[in-house]
Amino acid sequence: MTYSLFLLPGDGIGPEVMAEAEKVIGLFQAEGAATFALDRGLVGGSAYDAHGVAISDADMAKAQAADAVLLGAVGGPKWDQVPYDQRPESGLLRLRKDMQLYANIRPAICYPALADASSLKREFIEGLDLVIVRELTGGVYFGEPKQIIDLGNGQKRAIDTQVYDTYEIERIGRVAFELARQRGKRVTSSEKRNVMKSGVLWHEVITALHKRDYADVALDHQLADALGMQLVRNPKRFDVIVTDNLFGDMLSDVAAMLTGSIGMLPSASLGDIDPGTGRRKALYEPVHGSAPDIAGQGIANPIAMIGSFAMALRYTFDRGDLADRIEAAISAVLEKGLRTTDIKGGAASSLSTSAMGDAIVTELKR
Ligand code: NAD
Repeated sequence: MTYSLFLLPGDGIGPEVMAEAEKVIGLFQAEGAATFALDRGLVGGSAYDAHGVAISDADMAKAQAADAVLLGAVGGPKWDQVPYDQRPESGLLRLRKDMQLYANIRPAICYPALADASSLKREFIEGLDLVIVRELTGGVYFGEPKQIIDLGNGQKRAIDTQVYDTYEIERIGRVAFELARQRGKRVTSSEKRNVMKSGVLWHEVITALHKRDYADVALDHQLADALGMQLVRNPKRFDVIVTDNLFGDMLSDVAAMLTGSIGMLPSASLGDIDPGTGRRKALYEPVHGSAPDIAGQGIANPIAMIGSFAMALRYTFDRGDLADRIEAAISAVLEKGLRTTDIKGGAASSLSTSAMGDAIVTELKR
């Protein structure tokens, strides 16, 4: 079986961390553990420099055709002055939109060796393993009308529209319930049904879906503000959290920071199942951006990027065995006290991006 993977390293530290993920891909190929058909393209500022757009139609077509896309990061001050529609981030937005990636999945895992890097006390965070499933293509970021009106009396009025249809809630709910079945079989659904009509519908649709198709999974509901409190008070009580675009944006950043550095956090964006291949459209990328402040220095942490590849193995290629090996190797490297600068804490020295990638590969070979 050959897995097709389209690599989009992007800008800033994107290519630096992608090179380390490629070492892991190379190892699995050499071992014969898996066969990948790799192709590479440009996204973000690098694509703008080459083609005048943040992703070319040709690369977009390759992304659509691949089993999975692995992306580094986009953006940087070099492209601050480019036209708004061509800014580096528009490449990422086009990928999400054209591939209809409506489910953003962000795990928040606390490796025991890094528990002291969290702003929470060790006992609240050690062993944390939760996933936030955020609706990514609907809600208030896209709802119309979306405008600023001049009222003509020296006042303006800004309008954003929060809008969800039943099918949008149901399909994101399915992703969450199916994920929970592979994990701790618990879903927490979150909205603000006490003050928002979209929250009332969200609650109703998730409850009905649960009853109809996923009664084997435990479901509870939390208002989004209360969930925010619980995430910093008792995060280990959660398994899978499903919520809308706006609340998910905020809550996933809170959950991310529980675990220490942004350089540790992978993510997946999933779309519908392709009837031809039986696979969901999928893009995997670190949560972090292009980190212009450290780009070119060879000190970026590649763990989020390598972890994103592990997610591709788990969720697209159904190779949880290889994903487990990567996660165990990362854990072992951290247990040995090996650190990049961002997670250095009190450690005496730190590894370069490339040395961290090599350490993970060495561990994988054991
Ligand atoms: P950022 O995530 O790039 O950086 C935030 C801070 O975290 C910086 O101090 C950076 O050095 C550090 N950091 C990030 N990743 C790291 C890693 N792997 N190892 C060590 N340290 C790391 O966010 P930002 O500074 O707000 O944005 C920089 C650029 O990235 C902007 O152009 C922004 O639009 C873009 N961005 C892109 C994405 C994406 O590609 N998905 C996401 C967020 C931001």
